[in-house]
Amino acid sequence: MASLTFHGGVAEIGGNKILLEDRDARIWLDMGAPFNLGEAYFAEFLGARDRFGLRDHFALDLVPRIRGLYAAQALEATDFPWIEPEYSGIFVTHVHFDHTNHLKFVDPAIPVHVGEGTRTILQAWGTSTPSMALGDHAYKTFRTGRTVMADGVEVEPIHVDHSAPAAYGYLVHTSRGTVAYTGDLRRHGPKGEFTDEFIAAAAKAKPIALITEGTRVAPEDPRENLTEADVKARAIEVVHGAKRRLVLATFPGRDVDRMRTFFEVAKATGRRFVVNAKTAYLLLEMKKDARISVPDLERDDDVLVYDRQLRRTDPWERDVRSKMKDRVVTADDVRARPQDVILQLDVYHLQELVDLRPPQGSPYIHSKSEPFDEEDISGEVLDNWIRRFGLVRVQIHASGHLNEREVGEMIARIGAETVIPVHTEHPDRFTRFARKVVQPKRVEPIVL
Ligand SMILES: [Zn+2]
Repeated sequence: MASLTFHGGVAEIGGNKILLEDRDARIWLDMGAPFNLGEAYFAEFLGARDRFGLRDHFALDLVPRIRGLYAAQALEATDFPWIEPEYSGIFVTHVHFDHTNHLKFVDPAIPVHVGEGTRTILQAWGTSTPSMALGDHAYKTFRTGRTVMADGVEVEPIHVDHSAPAAYGYLVHTSRGTVAYTGDLRRHGPKGEFTDEFIAAAAKAKPIALITEGTRVAPEDPRENLTEADVKARAIEVVHGAKRRLVLATFPGRDVDRMRTFFEVAKATGRRFVVNAKTAYLLLEMKKDARISVPDLERDDDVLVYDRQLRRTDPWERDVRSKMKDRVVTADDVRARPQDVILQLDVYHLQELVDLRPPQGSPYIHSKSEPFDEEDISGEVLDNWIRRFGLVRVQIHASGHLNEREVGEMIARIGAETVIPVHTEHPDRFTRFARKVVQPKRVEPIVL
């Protein structure tokens, strides 16, 4: 008997946490946290008490009580007993919070399978942003084309294109047939062919079930159908129209494609690209992975790193500065020649505007989707800063997800016996794409 149990990602965007059981194998697909986790109980300065591990999460039903999954340390202060881990492994599709964050509670003895690029990013982020650290795990890395055996079940990772590098879908070859799982994916990114390859391989495997994301499957899709190339072209226009002004940009912290795009925009417009220290650290770390192309910060004179003049500099940031040598700039440097740069300014660094004093009408390019970003602040607060400093907000973003029509085409192409929608707020709409749709219900196993 083989079965699927959904502990997250059910009628919600993100928080994917899917258990596949087949004979001796007990395999997790993703270990994410939903974006709105705890929203009903927590606010700024009111959060779960990390010192008590999972105690608050369990009491508020924010994290499911699952035997043999969590670390002894996470359970210590709870009434839920620790037992030896009972899982073959966790297969992560990509680095985003809504697919990885609950690894922080997981027993470190359970193998965690990730693409190599994902591991690099997780490590870099854990160092530069300790609040995002996921603790120690038995990471095992793979690359496309290699399969992994997990207690007798073959798991085949296949790359897809998404707004994070090293993103994968999976084909899990169970005793009942193949289960295909999309993770998050799009076809309009720089590596769109990856997604086509996943779809082709899934179709070939004639799956008994397709677990698919549907972020943009909705009666109304607020996102524009821009490609990464469109983002670049529009941003170049904005920069050309901003003569003698400072160009500010914010983008998702792990979207390496977007970093490359702004880097290219800077080159194309004769400006230099000033990134924050975290971005610089991530790019320097990713440079070690020869297969993902990133701007070469150590050699390229057109990339600078911004110094926020903190009272204390962490070792990783000192490392960044020593590698960037004389290409470290402060607000004073930028204010002296605003027309020379494109400056990455994240929402949590908006106070820098006080010192940057951008010329009136300087564009603030908001290059991310609005509702689904773990690091975002409210639109109202952002607008207040923009108004106060006379900036002009420009929205330019390419989504990380297939649109509704493309999801329908993918489902038709793969031709699975059963379709199971996850990572969507509108699972009911999937009946228009497939004859047999099974709606997952939290914790109720679906027998394959
Ligand atoms: Zn996601």
